[in-house]
Amino acid sequence: MGMQWLAITFLALPLVVRAAAGGQWCYDSQDPECGPSHWKELKATCGGDKQSPVNIDRRQLHRDGGLGDILFEGYDQAPPGKWKLTNDGHTVMLSLASELASEHIAISGGGLPGRYRALQLHFHWGSPARNGSEHTLDGHQLPMELHIVHINVKYRTLAEAKGHPNGLAVLGFFFQVSDTSNTNYNTIVAGLRNISRAGDSVDLASTFRLSTLLPGASQLSGYYRYQGSLTTPDCSEVVVWTIFEEPVEIGREQLQAFVSTLHFPAVGPALLKMTNNFRPPQPLHSRKVFASRAATASGGSPRRGCCQLVTPLLLLALLGPCTITP
Ligand SMILES: [Zn+2]
Repeated sequence: MGMQWLAITFLALPLVVRAAAGGQWCYDSQDPECGPSHWKELKATCGGDKQSPVNIDRRQLHRDGGLGDILFEGYDQAPPGKWKLTNDGHTVMLSLASELASEHIAISGGGLPGRYRALQLHFHWGSPARNGSEHTLDGHQLPMELHIVHINVKYRTLAEAKGHPNGLAVLGFFFQVSDTSNTNYNTIVAGLRNISRAGDSVDLASTFRLSTLLPGASQLSGYYRYQGSLTTPDCSEVVVWTIFEEPVEIGREQLQAFVSTLHFPAVGPALLKMTNNFRPPQPLHSRKVFASRAATASGGSPRRGCCQLVTPLLLLALLGPCTITP
């Protein structure tokens, strides 16, 4: 174990290893003494005013007509080589950056300030008793959330990207539980039993098209955008967030596999199930959450706009108030 375990961890987890530098952080489900409310004691940035996740209040959205479709490059091709699935002690992570092919998995457009290439994806989930998304919708937590982390192609390293507010772009997807399995998740779900313990990693048998993990292409036009941070220490405020309206469907038993198969780092001989690995919503402060051009949730302003355009005469003719249901 020893050195080999360390080597694997360092190779696979640049993001997490850097994040953990300067103190030991955890989730409340591991130990309330080092949970999210204590992170700012380890890293002052975690107490900043542009932190993530946030609650997305759909009555308070600001429509931005400049937020058109995001261009997904390489999402529809299975790259050559292998992908490594890792239990990093806080989540299950699929490393996408270990192959040259990852240069070709990238996003741009959709109001993103540049082109960003994919580094890794990971998940946040709850427990048998509760949901575990990080972002919330109108105050409601969803069962699980997928984050696909991308780095601005202007920057060569994560450290360099962390020096710029537009350094990273993360795509967030909510999950919705269904009675039938989402077979596109079979490769990841089957891999979980091989990475039950913190520090374990496994090469997946094959790569696959990342697009298969997402809602259908026609459903990716509706999203929310805001400026925020990493949701784990060091909580760097360098993330352009995109949260998609349309959830991904996952089978009840597949979600159960995340909740029951994986473990946090052992404390002594005791194994602790990896559950509730989410940070709760942080204050929005002066930030705004924008709705894309095609998002169905429109916030309050279009409704007011409509009423301002309707003349009193027309109102009389309609014999009723101007109402548009979102
Ligand atoms: Zn995350």
